[in-house]
Amino acid sequence: MSDWEESEPNAAVCAPITYNARVFSSSTGRGRARGAYRGQRNNDANWRARGGDSSDNRDNRRNYRQESGNKKVIIIPSNKVGRVIGKGGSKIRDLEYESEAKIKIGDSRGNDTNITLFGTDEAILKVENLINDLMEERKPKEIVTHTNESNVATNEFLKKNSHGEEVIDWDKLNAFYDNQQKERYEKLAPIVKDFYKEDPVVSNMIPAEVTRWRLTNNDIQVRRTFDDKPGLLPVPNPILTFEQAFHNYPEILGEIYKQGFTQPSPIQCQAWPILLRGEDMIGIAQTGTGKTLAFLLPALIHIEGQPTPREKREGPTVLILAPTRELALQIEKEASKYQYRGIKSVCLYGGGDRKEQIKTVTKGVDIVIATPGRLNDLVLARHLNVINFSYIVLDEADRMLDMGFEPQIRKSLFDVRPDRQTVMTSATWPSGVRRLAESYMKDPIQVNVGSLDLAAVHTVTQQIMFVDEEDKEAALFEFIKNMDKNDKIIIFCGKKATATHISTEFCMKGIECQSLHGDRDQTDREAALEEMIDGTVNILVATDVASRGIDIKDLTHVINLDFPRHIEEYVHRVGRTGRAGKTGIALSFVTRNDWAHARDLIKILEEANQEVPDELFSMAERFEAMKLRKERNGGERRGRGGRGRRDSFY
Ligand code: AMP
Repeated sequence: MSDWEESEPNAAVCAPITYNARVFSSSTGRGRARGAYRGQRNNDANWRARGGDSSDNRDNRRNYRQESGNKKVIIIPSNKVGRVIGKGGSKIRDLEYESEAKIKIGDSRGNDTNITLFGTDEAILKVENLINDLMEERKPKEIVTHTNESNVATNEFLKKNSHGEEVIDWDKLNAFYDNQQKERYEKLAPIVKDFYKEDPVVSNMIPAEVTRWRLTNNDIQVRRTFDDKPGLLPVPNPILTFEQAFHNYPEILGEIYKQGFTQPSPIQCQAWPILLRGEDMIGIAQTGTGKTLAFLLPALIHIEGQPTPREKREGPTVLILAPTRELALQIEKEASKYQYRGIKSVCLYGGGDRKEQIKTVTKGVDIVIATPGRLNDLVLARHLNVINFSYIVLDEADRMLDMGFEPQIRKSLFDVRPDRQTVMTSATWPSGVRRLAESYMKDPIQVNVGSLDLAAVHTVTQQIMFVDEEDKEAALFEFIKNMDKNDKIIIFCGKKATATHISTEFCMKGIECQSLHGDRDQTDREAALEEMIDGTVNILVATDVASRGIDIKDLTHVINLDFPRHIEEYVHRVGRTGRAGKTGIALSFVTRNDWAHARDLIKILEEANQEVPDELFSMAERFEAMKLRKERNGGERRGRGGRGRRDSFY
């Protein structure tokens, strides 16, 4: 794989689990020592580290292990196999994903079940530790309720198959697991979700007025995403002023006034009544629309409005998941602007100080803003209990899925109380996001704020410059030479190496700039962004890590040194400028290698009333002709078009 930008681990590109069938007879001491240590820590008499070399040595209370370079057998109590497997095999998949080891559940013999672990030594050690954690996960008291009086495992999850062999009774095990989850949820303190008192002016809006308002405010469209079941309330009217939304919360109003905002943004007008009423909501909106505040202020009211006082709650109340560290930090920054009854937040992201993050989480916070990878890391290490989150936000869900975070999201949400309120934002509405909404949301109301292209690109003049690959750099330097001193520019590169090269070249030429890409450590990335925001530098060389969610005011130009791999990313990049009522310029260098994007680019330019160069039309035609030729020749992959993927959302 090339060094295409990845800011968080991508499940799709994770190394596949390689099972090497070689079996060595020698044993390594490392795993044994660790197992013994685990055994000492464990309360459960059935889960002990066994050191014997034969599975027949049933009296030996030390853990049997068949150690080998790539394979290891451990034994766990049969009544705990369900914990390793999880509902529908979900836990086993998670464990495999987390450790990169492979797990095979073997035969059960009475109270014990063999589990074979395959993989590298490191992977096996990791998965063994994770399984050890699972064995310890619940308090002994809870375990007793599901075993017999003496806490000795029963055979209740075993049955005889048609050959008279003892096998696991999956139905029973799943039912047991479901029941256990239900019991856990039933023990939770009740939550309140409805805090909305509709202002009479809002109640009295007639439907035609509401329709006109929506039409003239980014053509907002609102509906129940899935079936509009009987018993569901109609979609609430939008509020038109801050006071109409928060008249019962003067402190919140005070915080808004401090920001100097004159009026709520369209998404806020429509989202606040929905969210304050406690409904699940999907906001199809991108950064720059005021979406963060749309979900943040109702979250503050939700936190403060719960019947259990904050200090008595087990764990934080609000979880906001974001795809990148930059976006997570930006949300945290936005949250920190609003002081409400001492509500505290923490930002958890890979690359940040893990120890410090753990310290803050355990000290007690109300809002957790996290990237999926780090959240799972802390949840698995049991520094954070997700069961009590009662207000959840999946910000930029489409991007999280694009980055391969689906397994982590599913894992994180699996345990969260089901009566929570869930909010999702997404710039697009692909089937993956729809599936996520179906799985995790209850009768959500969907608010579409215009279409991505309309929201992003209409305030930007989009220019195309056709160049040969080898002339790009010279063209860029020519542009920079002619830059006005007030210009503020992002230069997007396709690869981290290019970004590094360009920023080094700038440096050698005495041109001040900053760079933002995945090879820089987190503090440097934050500093780069800060310097760009406060105007210390006027040029940022970046990869697509900065194409979404980054809000740099007064950005005058976006330069696409390399055309993005996906046309969707073009829209996001271009949308970094022309914000908050200002205009901007986007200059894209297009080479013959980018011909696969020509058709989509034409559509975007035409929709935004931009000039479309003739060369772009002929490029699109050449590409279509090449595709036709290829189809006629049996679809073989030839020519230069292989790089571009054609899955545009247009
Ligand atoms: P977001 O779409 O959440 O990334 O917000 C983009 C920027 O808009 C942030 O800097 C917010 O502080 C700002 N913002 C949010 N709501 C409003 C509003 N009602 N009026 C003006 N600016 C706002």
